[in-house]
Amino acid sequence: MRVRTGGASLVFETSGRQPARHEMVLDETQPSGAEVWSCPECGRRIAVQWSPDYERVVLEPGDGRAIHAGGTGGVRIGKVEVVPSSDAAAPDTAWRQWLADSGIDWDGSAA
Ligand SMILES: [Zn+2]
Repeated sequence: MRVRTGGASLVFETSGRQPARHEMVLDETQPSGAEVWSCPECGRRIAVQWSPDYERVVLEPGDGRAIHAGGTGGVRIGKVEVVPSSDAAAPDTAWRQWLADSGIDWDGSAA
C-alpha cells in the first residue's frame, strides 16, 4: 500500500452521493480565547471556546448538509490518497532510503 499526499483529487468522493466537504478556516482569535471559524464556501461561521469548558456556538449555519473539516486548533490535514500498489516491491527499503535521505539512520549504527 502506498499513501500519497497532496493529490489533486479527493478519492473519497466517487459515488456522487457524498455530501460536500468544506474546510473551515480560522477567522480570528478573540481576546477571550474563543476562536471564530468560517467556511469560505458556504459562509458557515462558528465560535469555539476551548477552556475552561469546550463550547461551540454556531453563528451562521451555512450549508448544514456539508461536512465541515477543520476547527481543531489549526491542524491542517492534507488530502490523503491510498493507492493499491503493485510496484512497491520493498516498502521497507523505500522508507529506509527516505529516512537516510532525511539524515536518520534507521539501523541505529550510530548508537
Ligand atoms: Zn461550508
